[in-house]
Amino acid sequence: MKIADRVQQIPPSGIRKFFEIAEEMDDVISLGVGEPDFTAPWAAREAAIDSLKAGKTSYTANRGMRELREEISKRVSTQYDLSYDPDDEILVTAGASEGLDVAFRALVDPGDVVAIAQPSYISYVPGVTFAGGEPLPVATREEDDFKLTTELLSAHGVADADMLVLCYPNNPTGAIMTAEEMAEVADFVREHDLTVLADEIYADLTYGDDHTSIATFEGLRERTVVFNGFSKAYAMTGLRLGYAMAPPQVISAMNRVHQYTMLSAPTTAQYAALEALRSCDSEVVEMRKQYNRRRQFVLSRFSEMGIDCFEAKGAFYVFPECPWDDTDAFAEALLEEQGVALVPGHVFGDSGEGHLRVSYATGLNELREAMARIEAFLG
Ligand code: PLP
Repeated sequence: MKIADRVQQIPPSGIRKFFEIAEEMDDVISLGVGEPDFTAPWAAREAAIDSLKAGKTSYTANRGMRELREEISKRVSTQYDLSYDPDDEILVTAGASEGLDVAFRALVDPGDVVAIAQPSYISYVPGVTFAGGEPLPVATREEDDFKLTTELLSAHGVADADMLVLCYPNNPTGAIMTAEEMAEVADFVREHDLTVLADEIYADLTYGDDHTSIATFEGLRERTVVFNGFSKAYAMTGLRLGYAMAPPQVISAMNRVHQYTMLSAPTTAQYAALEALRSCDSEVVEMRKQYNRRRQFVLSRFSEMGIDCFEAKGAFYVFPECPWDDTDAFAEALLEEQGVALVPGHVFGDSGEGHLRVSYATGLNELREAMARIEAFLG
């Protein structure tokens, strides 16, 4: 059978390729996956089980259960100073991934230029390409702590783009942006009449400054789609639940794509998410504390080894410089000789070249062992 050109032109995920090698080996410590090692809070799991016991196995409303949309609306208004109407400004999706895909398909016309702050999560470029748009990478730099600046936006010609995709706290660098820094990006976006897709899936995972959403700046709510979900902060990756927030006409357009592809997000997961928002905040606080301990440990160990590593303050990644020129060769040799898996930074865009993504969503004991093995490898 013929495979569509737009699919053939997308290479397989660089992360998966690497993990296929790791899966064949014994005694591998993986610092490669972007997935919490924690289990979803018990109350959320119990709510999912109870919903099944009660026979809640039907579709929900296309946009998601009303109660859940209300709870999401309440949460973002108290925590992030954003106000969205549960009736027509929130769409519950099968993970933030589905939300992003639906947004690209609903908002991007063939030939539209979509600027993507990179290094970035691996789905944005394929998502834009599948929608017929043209990705425009905007390379952030270690010297700016991988933040997006108006200088970079201008230098990459984003003034003439149609859309800007940004992700802070960032995967893969762990970078965050302060309110002042985000305000400058917001000014640029307003001035050049851009639409923004803000992937805020790591919003709850910052260590120091709280997260500021770009949608909170004047005139930005009208032109931004905010994405969030339960995979990271609530350790619910397998339940596949996320949400998008935007003005009514945008949510309505996204819902048109969503209703013909997903129909509604998984019902059982929606019950779990509802309970997560209602009663699981203390677990999120505890997980964040543990991530922060691990982050400090990993940063201090890289520093002891003489490896340059910028101080990541969000998500659960650090992004050290690779001690070898060839990052693929380094990652492969480290995996083969010491059984430690990490991801070469170029997988996240050319601007990630020369770095490695190290996930600390792994227990402290395993991290200790992994760092000792990296030290032995370098020694
Ligand atoms: N956005 C970013 C930045 C991510 O890192 C990930 C997963 O790694 C996702 C979205 C996907 O999230 P979900 O599990 O909600 O689809």
